[in-house]
Amino acid sequence: MTHLFYLTDSYLREFTAHVAAAHPEQHAVALDRTAFYPGGGGQPHDSGVLLVDGVTLPVVKVKREAEHIWHWLAPEVVLPAVGTAVVGRLDWERRYALMRTHTAMHILCGVVWRDYGAQVTGGAMEPLEGRMDFEFATLRAELVGEIEAKCNVEIAAAHDVRIQILPREQAFQIPDLIRTKINLLPEGISEVRTVEIVGLDLQADGGTHVANTAEVGTIRVTDYKSKGAINKRIYIQVA
Ligand SMILES: [Zn+2]
Repeated sequence: MTHLFYLTDSYLREFTAHVAAAHPEQHAVALDRTAFYPGGGGQPHDSGVLLVDGVTLPVVKVKREAEHIWHWLAPEVVLPAVGTAVVGRLDWERRYALMRTHTAMHILCGVVWRDYGAQVTGGAMEPLEGRMDFEFATLRAELVGEIEAKCNVEIAAAHDVRIQILPREQAFQIPDLIRTKINLLPEGISEVRTVEIVGLDLQADGGTHVANTAEVGTIRVTDYKSKGAINKRIYIQVA
């Protein structure tokens, strides 16, 4: 299995590794370890570069397939052979913006559950903007400003964001995780990574987040849309 630095250290932006597999048709390589996030859970993949003997190889797409995290390289560069030593370097501006945005989504999710009892059903993000879907029948325009203000109170409260990797059985005992449908996790998964905004939100999650809510900045709720009587979509921006 590839060692995934980002699961325990989201702030690692440069690392050394070796090429573990190469896929010439896709023009992609897998590494024995990586800090590149492959996308998932609504968070887009990272970009950046691999450096081989001082030559820069742009990483244009990253995706998990079976046991490998594949790093697609720009078409004009030569694919490094299996065993080659590389330095990986993330596009940190993009990654950090995604960490702030992803954490903002958790804050929104936590506030909406705590104060309105509405459950999240999905979401997607790009750097500094995102949308979340809720089962939130009573959402109306007057609430949007209120939700935004409450989110910004939680940012200013500077809550720590705590990452833990728990045995499956232990995670399945936590009521907040059961609420977020942890029971849908595939049988084969023996450990569950949890992301807790201390005092606000706890989820099973494989993405990257900032270490403290103060790093998020400011959340603005920019729009909301009705997707039916119950399902509502909230749009946010982070600045
Ligand atoms: Zn998350």
